[in-house]
Amino acid sequence: MLIAPSATLHVLNPATGEPVCEHPIASPDEVRAAVLRAKAAQLRWAALPVAHRVEVLRRFQSLLAERKREVAETITAEAGKPIVEALLTEVIVALDAARFCREHARGVMAEREVPHSNPAVMAKRARLVPEPIGVIGIISPWNYPFSIPATETLAALVTGNAVVLKPSELTPNSALKLRDLLHEAGVPGDVFQVVLGEGATGAALLAAPVDKIIFTGSVATGKRVAMACAERLIPCVLELGGKDAMIVLDDADVDLASSAAVWGGLVNAGQTCISVERCYVHRSLQDEFLAACARKIAGLRVGSGAESDTDIGPLISPRQLEIVEAQVEDARASGAHVACGGRRLEVLGPQFYAPTLLTDVTHSMRVMREETFGPVLPVMSFDTGEQAIALANDSEFGLAASVWGRDRQRAEHVARRIEAGAVMVNDLISQFAISEAPHGGVKSSGIGRTHGLLGMQEMVRPKYIDIDLLPRMKKLWWYGYGDRFTAQMEGFTDMLFGSTLRTRLSGAVRSAAALWRKRM
Ligand code: NDP
Repeated sequence: MLIAPSATLHVLNPATGEPVCEHPIASPDEVRAAVLRAKAAQLRWAALPVAHRVEVLRRFQSLLAERKREVAETITAEAGKPIVEALLTEVIVALDAARFCREHARGVMAEREVPHSNPAVMAKRARLVPEPIGVIGIISPWNYPFSIPATETLAALVTGNAVVLKPSELTPNSALKLRDLLHEAGVPGDVFQVVLGEGATGAALLAAPVDKIIFTGSVATGKRVAMACAERLIPCVLELGGKDAMIVLDDADVDLASSAAVWGGLVNAGQTCISVERCYVHRSLQDEFLAACARKIAGLRVGSGAESDTDIGPLISPRQLEIVEAQVEDARASGAHVACGGRRLEVLGPQFYAPTLLTDVTHSMRVMREETFGPVLPVMSFDTGEQAIALANDSEFGLAASVWGRDRQRAEHVARRIEAGAVMVNDLISQFAISEAPHGGVKSSGIGRTHGLLGMQEMVRPKYIDIDLLPRMKKLWWYGYGDRFTAQMEGFTDMLFGSTLRTRLSGAVRSAAALWRKRM
């Protein structure tokens, strides 16, 4: 059945279910027109010196630092997270990304010599010239509605691209704040545009003449995006779902690891792509670890993100609540023990779910295989390091992971064997806030990288420019073939790649005459 998109976006506050505001939805024609305007504007933006774009990012950084509270409140009103998380994981991440992009823009855009060592092409000067890709379409999710599009946008803009952003229908206001700050900082209106709407608006962006797509979202939508990009033969970066493992080795500090598990599993009500979705604890520490987790979870305050003492806010939508609830019920029905939580908190509002600790879980349960994206920490024990690695790798996902233990060398050894885009030892999640660290996954967690130098390099394409320094000389290999020339080229091959000095010298003598042969 084809569902026609509604003409208006209704933004709701997840803490109360009450309306925040409405926005008109961009039609496919409007999306296409936005991309065409961006195409024209990009040429002028790219022609400006890098220093100009760096200065615009510096102004953006100071405006965002000034308006941090206003931005954080906008995020909390539509995404539900505690204000302090909006500051830490959204505003500060974007501020540091602006710093990083400013510092590295000149390096990424710098031309590089390409030295030749083949004697046949020595008389040349060659360079790699990085060029902006053009118009980057960014499609972003609701869970980090400011920092995800901001980090990607800053890397795209500073390297001379234009951006058309399609944010999640659930969190458009954070994207509009980003737009207003960028425009005030000096980014021309057509160089950064936001098109609002639902999935159909994202599909319209894919059909418009964008030059590359940076998509962050679910695996199911990511596959659709990849297919649409393949149809148009344009590149895409896909930042998709995760089922991140946390491994607590037998020499881990239980107090530290349990605090990390509780925060890492429940931050942003568990709606974090790199949150702890599966925790594996060495059997010798299991009882102490579970008791510490249960005690720490019991001390958490659940409520509206707008209250300064709230630790855990609501889930984003009734649909997300149903997914979490269904996974916990499936686990319970299959024999898992709900050590705490495992129920809705209707007294607080329509979308609150109690922070939940699950034990006696197995890999046959949905909660250990599918992305949960809710405040649920499932814990399983293991006996050997090999077993822990096998459990961690037994997943279709490979976004991030963490390993905990006092013996750093042993923990690093385990980390190296985990199939994931990033593995932290004795820390978790903070790699997202380290602007230098590339972000992205393996397996179903995606393709390509955002953040760091690798993320900036996704925004440029290298052009190879080659200048011949002997323009009057016909090339050795042009027409005029025959037995003599073939023998000379055999000699030339021996000169370059012969295994002994004698063969190379003989090859040089046999090929030398080719320089003077008559060519067409
Ligand atoms: P979705 O895949 O549902 O949506 C992501 C974006 O795609 C939204 O803007 C959505 O619009 C849009 N969209 C939906 N359908 C289409 C379509 N057919 N064509 C183009 N665009 C479309 O993901 P969620 O918003 O629910 O985000 C949660 C997911 O994102 C989780 O799986 C999470 O793990 C992942 N994620 C991954 C991260 C990473 O870095 N790897 C980081 C953060 C989240 P609309 O919302 O309006 O439907």
